[in-house]
Amino acid sequence: MSYARVLCVGLVGVTGHLVEVEVDLAAGLPGVVISGLPDTALHEARDRVRAAVVNSGQRWPNRRITLNLLPATLPKFGSAFDLAIAVALLGGSGELPLLPLDGVAVLGELGLDGTVRPVRGVLPMVAAAAQAGVQRVIVPAGNTAEAAVVPGLLVRGVDTLHRLVAFVRDGTPLIEPPLDAPPPAAPGPDLAEVAGQSLGRRAVEVAAAGGHHLALIGPPGAGKTMLAERLPSILPELDDEAALEVTALHSIAGLLPPGGRLIRRPPFQAPHHTATVPSIVGGGSGLARPGAISLAHRGVLLMDEAPEFSKAALEALRQPLEHGRVLLTRSRGSAEYPARAQLVLAANPCPCANPAGDDRCECPPLARRRYLGRLSGPLLDRIDLQVRLSPMRAAELMETGSHESSAVVARRVAAARAAAAERWAPLGRRLNAEIPGPDLRRTPWRLPGRVTVELRSRLDSGSLSARGFDRVVRLAWTIADLDGRARPDMGDVAEAITLRTGEGT
Ligand SMILES: [Zn+2]
Repeated sequence: MSYARVLCVGLVGVTGHLVEVEVDLAAGLPGVVISGLPDTALHEARDRVRAAVVNSGQRWPNRRITLNLLPATLPKFGSAFDLAIAVALLGGSGELPLLPLDGVAVLGELGLDGTVRPVRGVLPMVAAAAQAGVQRVIVPAGNTAEAAVVPGLLVRGVDTLHRLVAFVRDGTPLIEPPLDAPPPAAPGPDLAEVAGQSLGRRAVEVAAAGGHHLALIGPPGAGKTMLAERLPSILPELDDEAALEVTALHSIAGLLPPGGRLIRRPPFQAPHHTATVPSIVGGGSGLARPGAISLAHRGVLLMDEAPEFSKAALEALRQPLEHGRVLLTRSRGSAEYPARAQLVLAANPCPCANPAGDDRCECPPLARRRYLGRLSGPLLDRIDLQVRLSPMRAAELMETGSHESSAVVARRVAAARAAAAERWAPLGRRLNAEIPGPDLRRTPWRLPGRVTVELRSRLDSGSLSARGFDRVVRLAWTIADLDGRARPDMGDVAEAITLRTGEGT
């Protein structure tokens, strides 16, 4: 027999697709031809597979070898095809009877010595295999826990090509996934630890309830980072679909904690202000790595000291914020990753970053304007909530009374989100932050004139833009939802103005 075929899985974005690895051996000049849109890594696979086969004590067929990866139209990235190529080759050359691998998807990268190395993206690959009706998968030993997260599949691991060959030949057992479920992730930081800063706490709660992007402006020590880090703790847990999507993205980045478990808490990412554009939006050769904005998908992306980021990095956030996904254009095909993160920008009011705040700032007014001006335009334009935090006063720091915990605030947030989801269901939307301006301004959602008096006078005087008007109204809906009112009243609009314009205390 000179033909064999083994199942594998390729990834396009976060979506896995079943791939058939076909091998045909023919008489003729010895050599290997690979077809089916391979990337450079696949050409390197040829050399890796050859070394691994020989170093595992198997015979390398001295014939003309044609490798074909189907479907040919599917772009293929990465090194997860190695193991399937190796066994297909040994099957095709008659060295191995491949019946035991019938209907089994085989994933793994080979080292030159024949060891099987873990690969990125096993979770979405295995999930796709299961979706396509595959019932058994063989993955690198280091990926078994992750693969076992997908229900209804028989998962086995291999550490060497030799072990897989022994399994196929005489049924030598493969490695089973760990039985013990790992302990749940430790809870993140809690709002109960934040003393004082009532405006900041309220801003974070409103941001969570309405899904609004948030800018926190204030001197060092005002608690900006502390507050931002605690935003995920008051967001609802991820539902099954979101959890699978978020875990898949972390799997593709190679950042899943060991043990294998779906990520249920909204993720938190805080890239440093020296971060490169690829580290923020994603990129790299082979299987593209998701950037911080995709790792924060369904969670929170904090840009701390936001004006210090490069212009290119801030600019790169525009497209993902607008579309909820990142498109990475590659030489061969493009990768698209989800990127629906809630953005928190934290910034000092000026370059001198005097902890005493505006009182002791010695920066020239022009320098101050320029500093925050770096954030203006398209980015700041998408942010509903902009809050100016004052330096923490000693009295606040010494405050010993109990502060509300994240669990208590999270309950209000969940109730507010439920009210909003029910109201916007006819529009097919869930969060106040998602509602387009024209919908806010039409019946039955248009707010009566007496509620928007203050807003309209600001609009007329030019101190508020038309977009700013819509943003305040969105915030007012969220405040009403949090306080259990069916519609915003004048008080809600007044508080929304404070949260929008930063005219707080
Ligand atoms: Zn200053």
